[in-house]
Amino acid sequence: MTLQDLATWAGRLKTTPKMPILFLGHGSPMNALSNNEFTKSWQTLGTSLPKPTAILSISAHWETLGTEVTAMKKPRTIYDFYNFPEKLYQMEYPAPGDPELAREICDLVDMTTLELDHAWGLDHGTWCVLKFLYPDADIPVLQLSLDKLRSPQYHYDLGRALSKLRERGVLIMGSGNIVHNLRMLDRNLPHEGFEWADEAKARMVEMIKMHDHRSLIDFENQGEAFRLAIPTDEHFLPLLYILGLETKEDEHFIFNDKSVTGSLAMTSVLIG
Ligand code: ZN
Repeated sequence: MTLQDLATWAGRLKTTPKMPILFLGHGSPMNALSNNEFTKSWQTLGTSLPKPTAILSISAHWETLGTEVTAMKKPRTIYDFYNFPEKLYQMEYPAPGDPELAREICDLVDMTTLELDHAWGLDHGTWCVLKFLYPDADIPVLQLSLDKLRSPQYHYDLGRALSKLRERGVLIMGSGNIVHNLRMLDRNLPHEGFEWADEAKARMVEMIKMHDHRSLIDFENQGEAFRLAIPTDEHFLPLLYILGLETKEDEHFIFNDKSVTGSLAMTSVLIG
């Protein structure tokens, strides 16, 4: 995959009536201070995709009891990471919110009651990538939380329930990492994955390509490599929202499909 391939693929979506959907592997918060192959892909997406009317981000870093949607006019930038360089804590992503759209999203969903939130903001799963996609921070951004007591099937179904937003020009973005095991992280392997990490990543990509959503929803029963790749599910679940939103007419483009620091995969997918 080259940046040109990504630009061409994303560029052809400019004429489609529905907004594409996106899952991004976000990796370390340090990416926000970097200029690397992953951040270059994010920049390329920002200049190639149709410009959204708003962005709804489902980030691994906002888990709640119940499902909430941010509804403030000016969401704050949240620094939900520790022991990183001071420069990272000085960054701001001052995108506006959209309280009216938040209420519309609550009305749109029948399968559960969504709550409006006025306390969260934009966590690093959201702003560390959007900073590259849309550096001007001029598009309203909302977040949808992950209800930590719900099943994988719930998250997939809730994704599907949001599908009307695609017709309204809203970019729905999942932000996590399909392989994410911080306890096994090895900084001596900056550009490599452990064997189990590469295996899980390859199998997941195959399942995405084959539209095998059943097996991905059933990730807890896919053997040892998946167990190590998903020791907790919050970085994986945002992918299920995006797959729930996929329709038969959609096609996939996989990019940033690399393992880093042994136990993380940056694998991302654009669907449209
Ligand atoms: Zn994360």
